[in-house]
Amino acid sequence: MEIVMTILEGTLRYVLTLKLTDYLDIALMAYGLYWLLKLVGDTKVERLGKGVIIFLFSLWLSHIFHLNGIYFILSHVVSLGVLALVVLFQPEIRRLLEQIGSSRLRSFNPFAKAQQVTAIESAIAQTVLACTEMSKSRTGVLIVFERDMLLDHIARTGTIVDAQVSSELLKNIFFVKAAMHDGAVIIREGRLLAGGCMLPLSKNVNLSRDLGMRHRAGIGMSENSDAVVVIVSEETGAISVAIGGLLKRHLMPETLEKLLMKELIPQQEEEAESKFRLHLPSFHKERKERDEDGTK
Ligand code: ATP
Ligand code: MG
Repeated sequence: MEIVMTILEGTLRYVLTLKLTDYLDIALMAYGLYWLLKLVGDTKVERLGKGVIIFLFSLWLSHIFHLNGIYFILSHVVSLGVLALVVLFQPEIRRLLEQIGSSRLRSFNPFAKAQQVTAIESAIAQTVLACTEMSKSRTGVLIVFERDMLLDHIARTGTIVDAQVSSELLKNIFFVKAAMHDGAVIIREGRLLAGGCMLPLSKNVNLSRDLGMRHRAGIGMSENSDAVVVIVSEETGAISVAIGGLLKRHLMPETLEKLLMKELIPQQEEEAESKFRLHLPSFHKERKERDEDGTK
């Protein structure tokens, strides 16, 4: 009981000494940690977090209660643990560093962003056009639209293309006799980054039995990242979209386009208010009319 009182008293005294900047410091650190965890977006990290907290708690308890033997062992494990973490999480650390590098560039340049939006819109229009045709011709399609989480590790499993997205290019890639038709295409910021890529399969055991490997790979990719995945079935020609592990099936081309626009250009309305994008709504309309004419 006495120990608890001492701890409470000590904590209270410590809290009273905190300055405004300390609160700011803590808030920023908490936000930074939240941001890092979100970027990595991995259940492995969550589990690790729990492990680290339990470990540090044991270390603290052994110190408080003077369990010198345990404290000695645990404190020596700490130094080894840091090294073990770096080795264990080498792929995640690399991904995180890549991510930090790219997101900074993205958010500070409004002009580059407006250009990106145009590229993404064109990529969506071309994808919808290609998927509509390949749905009719029963060609299997798997297209991954990358969002905040970088998919370089996935792109590396295939062939780097780095070209403007066009419906002809997509149809060429997925043509059954083409060398790159197996696997997925990755689209980054409206450009076709790579083709023939291997996606992680879904671990969901409750998926419908009629979903084969292509659909499981698409769902798996959306479980493992924030990407939006478009799938056209070779067997039925049905168009589906996987986001966050959920599959929306049997989409009409118009629904596909609306869904992609909503998911890939979410800041459309917000940014239309900003002075850089004042002219975008009319631009969108014009563009849409032009594209609709193109599909007729
Ligand atoms: P469909 O309705 O088109 O038949 P399906 O879900 O039944 O789709 P399968 O018939 O098993 O899927 O399709 C196999 C194809 O899916 C492979 O030829 C390959 O192109 C693609 N595929 C399978 N696994 C992966 C993976 N891990 N990553 C990327 N593509 C994959
Ligand atoms: Mg099949």
